[in-house]
Amino acid sequence: MRLKEVLIDWIYEPVLSFIAPAVCVSCGKPLNGNEKVICRECYQKIPTLSEEYLESLKSEISTPYFDDLIIRFEFSPIFQQLIHLLKYEHFSGVASILAQSLAEFIPLNFDLLTAVPLNPARLKERGYNQSALLAEHLSQITRIPFNESILKRVRNTPSQTKLSRSERQANVRDAFKAEGQLEGARILIVDDVVTTGSTLNECARVLKEAGAAKVVAAALATPVDFFQGDRLENVTSWPLQS
Ligand SMILES: [Zn+2]
Repeated sequence: MRLKEVLIDWIYEPVLSFIAPAVCVSCGKPLNGNEKVICRECYQKIPTLSEEYLESLKSEISTPYFDDLIIRFEFSPIFQQLIHLLKYEHFSGVASILAQSLAEFIPLNFDLLTAVPLNPARLKERGYNQSALLAEHLSQITRIPFNESILKRVRNTPSQTKLSRSERQANVRDAFKAEGQLEGARILIVDDVVTTGSTLNECARVLKEAGAAKVVAAALATPVDFFQGDRLENVTSWPLQS
């Protein structure tokens, strides 16, 4: 755990909750003793992604390199509040909650867990990779060892926000490389938000090329109306990158 996280968890949060009792990030009601960040009622309002949508998303990927794709939630307004805290506030309390949610959907037969590397410019600006933060917490819960260094981003990719599905596939092509001894490894790769799955699929491709025996991609959420009727204008304000 990084020093900043330790300080936030052990010092900042207890001090803050002493000064002002913790409230739900979504509805603002005081949290009870075993709730953190979000109340149970609001958490339960975040829709689980339907099997049908997940299957249709997978079927749109022309050449899947991953063995399976797991996505936990629909990208909904309450989820957006949580992901904002993860992405911009480095809030490990949120990473812990979201990792727990994802862990419930993850089988445990993996040798390694890694995260989609962030664009270096964005990493510099933000100071941390939110998917790696999530993966670290997931590793603590599942005991699957976390290794951030097996995937490197070797090319900066322009923002994907306004790109179509095929443009996204071309945009991420050769953007990553795999490193280390991966022959026969069973790898779980984690991302925060998925739109078309192009980024995760490209990561899976290079991991397989490097000898991985199995690659499963897991993400927290996907916007279910993203490509319906190609209404791309609906998502330009959303904080999506992949
Ligand atoms: Zn609430």
